[in-house]
Amino acid sequence: MKADPYLNIDAGTLNPIEHGEVFVLDDGMECDQDLGNYERFLDQSLNETNYLTTGQVMKAIIDKERALGYEGKTVEFFQDPPREIISRIQKCVKTNHAEIIVFEVGGTVGEYQNLLFLEANRLLKLRYPRDVLHVHVTYLPIPSSIGEMKSKPAQMSIQQLFASGIHADFVLARSQVAIDEKRKEKIAIACGLDPAGIISAPDVENIYQVPLNFENQDLSDKILQKMHIKPRKKDLSDWKIMVNRALVAPKTAKIAMVGKYFSTGDFTLSDAYLSVIESVKHAAAKNDIKAKMTWIDSTQIEKEGPDILAGYDGIVVPGGFGGRAVEGIIQSIKYARQNKIPYFGLCFGMQLAAVEFARNVAGFKDAHTTEINPKTKHPIIHVMESQKEKVEKKDLGGTMRLGSWDFKATAGTKFAKTYGKLEGSERHRHRYEFNNQYRKVFEKKGMIIAATTKDGKLVESLELKDHPFFIGVQFHPELKSRPMHPHPLYLAFMEAVAKAQ
Ligand code: GLN
Repeated sequence: MKADPYLNIDAGTLNPIEHGEVFVLDDGMECDQDLGNYERFLDQSLNETNYLTTGQVMKAIIDKERALGYEGKTVEFFQDPPREIISRIQKCVKTNHAEIIVFEVGGTVGEYQNLLFLEANRLLKLRYPRDVLHVHVTYLPIPSSIGEMKSKPAQMSIQQLFASGIHADFVLARSQVAIDEKRKEKIAIACGLDPAGIISAPDVENIYQVPLNFENQDLSDKILQKMHIKPRKKDLSDWKIMVNRALVAPKTAKIAMVGKYFSTGDFTLSDAYLSVIESVKHAAAKNDIKAKMTWIDSTQIEKEGPDILAGYDGIVVPGGFGGRAVEGIIQSIKYARQNKIPYFGLCFGMQLAAVEFARNVAGFKDAHTTEINPKTKHPIIHVMESQKEKVEKKDLGGTMRLGSWDFKATAGTKFAKTYGKLEGSERHRHRYEFNNQYRKVFEKKGMIIAATTKDGKLVESLELKDHPFFIGVQFHPELKSRPMHPHPLYLAFMEAVAKAQ
């Protein structure tokens, strides 16, 4: 379960540049990207009870107060929110039939915003001393000018946690390299901890090495012992094989990710598309390739032209909203179509592929999505009927077409072959859709409707004929790719990439 300190009710209203990717669950909950990591590591689908924000806590309390739910009592800032948080934790445990729950408090110890979550944790430990333990993730910098690992900031944050009434049972020492015995001892003495509880968490080449590193230090046994639970047999051999395959892949493929949420100040933020990146890696490893991904901000294509895409083995256009830098994306899609470079368009990436095809193949020069040009003569992509009123009324939080929806594939398409079946379900997050008036002319010109909703009304996938791989999907397959089970569409895309090399 992830607790985010924001007052937002969910992550759906947050700009990805601000907060990273919005991850969508089967039930439509729009949450922090960490939930994506949880699903990938656990190989398990989660639900809305696994995501909590301060906004949800406050809204529940205020709604209850307005309904006289506190029966005349004062609603106290430092009492009622922690109680609400604890009841949410209990609800999550029940809903998931969980034996153990990992409750991740977002943010940093010492910041004002997450105090209520820490207080809830302190109270939980008081209530259930044998069942609750605290793991503190801290950072040990190695300043390049000194070259020595510094433990002082870690000591300070552990002590800062004391000030909230929480004594860490385990400290995960994040750093560039493994923490040595000397620093372990220093921290143990300064903070009154058992050195066996200080766990090394160095940077790793592949994120899926992380649990293997913890297992080398017997972390799960140590945790279970503290919780008075008998350690169980565990078998990480399949996981090890998966990690190893990714690490030793003999070939490299160059993938261009063309998007709009990459720049943040002077830095590049790939977090906005975290699941896409992970899905490409999962599928690459299964094809024994290493994916070398390059983030290309579409404003750069607008300035320098699409020729900078020469030499890439595959092009991905992920999801997005709004008009900024969209022409750069459309130029990139045209480049992939004409130069027969494998292309994979995700949601916005499918919609803009339709716009590009309409303009440059079907001859509708001013074609566009009405999200960007509401007055276009050729609204290839337009707002879904069910969304019109919501957009007009500005009822915009948690109201998109969200979560899992069934699709029906068109027999004989690459799409259908890839899944190996004609029906399935995928996770969505969008307000706009392909305009059905253009289905016929698209099919005539060589762009096939590869999948629709079960009732046939909504286009779920477009696929270009006579191209090594050119598929756009209205959903987000990356939300269901897992390292042990890469998504079939990503696998097919990476296969096409490997072939094109
Ligand atoms: N902006 C588009 C829509 O709302 C695409 C959304 C997306 O890429 N997730 O339909």
